[in-house]
Amino acid sequence: MDTQMLIGARFEAGTETEEHILNPKTGARIVDLPEASHAQIDAAVDAAEKAFVSWAATTPAERSGYLLRIADAIEKDADAFAALEALNCGKPINAARNDELPAIIDCWRFFAGAIRSLHAPVAAEYLPGLTSMVRRDPVGIVGSIAPWNYPLMMMAWKLAPAIAGGNTVVFKPSEQTPLTALKMAKLLAGILPEGVVNIVLGRGETVGNALINHPRISMVSITGDIATGKKVLAAAAKTVKRTHLELGGKAPVIVFDDADLEAVVAGIRAFGYYNAGQDCTAACRLYAEDRIYEKLVADLSAAVSTIKYNDPDDTQNEIGPLISKRQRDRVASFVERAAEVKHIEITAGGRNGSDEGYFFQPTVVAGAMQDDEIVRREVFGPVVSVTRFSEVDQAVAWANDSDYGLASSVWTKDIGKAMKAAARLQYGCTWINTHFMLTTEMPHGGLKQSGYGKDMSVYALEDYTAVRHVMVAHG
Ligand code: NAD
Repeated sequence: MDTQMLIGARFEAGTETEEHILNPKTGARIVDLPEASHAQIDAAVDAAEKAFVSWAATTPAERSGYLLRIADAIEKDADAFAALEALNCGKPINAARNDELPAIIDCWRFFAGAIRSLHAPVAAEYLPGLTSMVRRDPVGIVGSIAPWNYPLMMMAWKLAPAIAGGNTVVFKPSEQTPLTALKMAKLLAGILPEGVVNIVLGRGETVGNALINHPRISMVSITGDIATGKKVLAAAAKTVKRTHLELGGKAPVIVFDDADLEAVVAGIRAFGYYNAGQDCTAACRLYAEDRIYEKLVADLSAAVSTIKYNDPDDTQNEIGPLISKRQRDRVASFVERAAEVKHIEITAGGRNGSDEGYFFQPTVVAGAMQDDEIVRREVFGPVVSVTRFSEVDQAVAWANDSDYGLASSVWTKDIGKAMKAAARLQYGCTWINTHFMLTTEMPHGGLKQSGYGKDMSVYALEDYTAVRHVMVAHG
């Protein structure tokens, strides 16, 4: 197991407080990892700064070549990466190996191609005797901070467009899930020039805080909580850093009476609970129209009760545990408070799912109303609420009545009705008759307090590069 940080070409252990890295399936300690000191963070920034000059001067084709080699190397070692991710996050091995790894490899390959085909307005003489052209240049050193729900995938989403764009990076994984990032450190050091990517370990309030306040870091990219995003913005204001914020969600799912009930139930069973609901796009906030409501609650509750977790044969598991005891207790407390509300009924699950480890039963909270906490706040666990509605306008208004704006979906056989609702939803993504499906070519990112900036797609390359105008006078 790789346990050392990457600073320039050096592998070294942190020198500060140790973090216990736990297996969420059992609560057992995997390894203790010390966090970086201020001197080590500065050394990582120094290395990124030194590397920037030559890395920014490479051609898109050269950078593309590096990214393709990274993708190939991950692919070659995909089984080991998946096993490590499953161990550190508690994911079922099949989810890590068959869902996540292919998407991660695809992300690296996509940016290898995309950096070679960026677009801009044509160069021309917009004023006589003067030729104008647009450049897209790197921003500088990016401080990149990742959450614990998809560690290796978030690393790909953040590193691939940043280094494709000619930036250098100091990356901090979540203090709870650093293991695949440390394996990537070895892989990247064998491929990239020294200092292009540096990896430091530590908690948010110490190492994360040092990165977001670092005067020589030009851009901060973070995926995490809204409260964390606000801290990034406050820090960024001091030196006017560029920011890229992915800050969670509470995805509304509008189910009209004429929807294909079987497809809805199968869709929510899969996409409300994937990754134990620790997903910012999880289909967690259902609005069901009057006539479909009762049957949807009954069928969904029955289907959700069959979701496999904590089976000793991991290949049978569909979801895993929550990341930590703290997160499981948080989820349990949301459900306990919901159960005390008179009009609410817990129609599936509702309790801890194991004595050992941090499992929580896949749960359906029926009869929830718009003002209930369970409808308004991000639970980030395997919990889906269902609320009844009577009018389209009411459903759209309730769906939009949220601080979040990341993802949403609409389910109906009437495509006109679906398109009208989709146009009115204030979300970075709206799916029609599906949910959760992402593709590397398409942008992913939020509105409102879910943040801004896109992951994946050419829009991410735009976020990680600066538009510049160069004008030549030629008499
Ligand atoms: P978090 O905000 O606590 O931590 C995220 C990262 O930020 C971690 O690496 C953490 O160490 C760091 N951090 C925390 N405080 C910091 C500070 N003061 N300064 C600098 N860095 C700091 O979130 P989490 O609990 O790891 O992740 C879950 C959250 O992330 C959820 O709210 C979820 O919705 C969100 N999320 C969003 C997306 C998206 O695409 N929008 C994707 C995944 C997760």
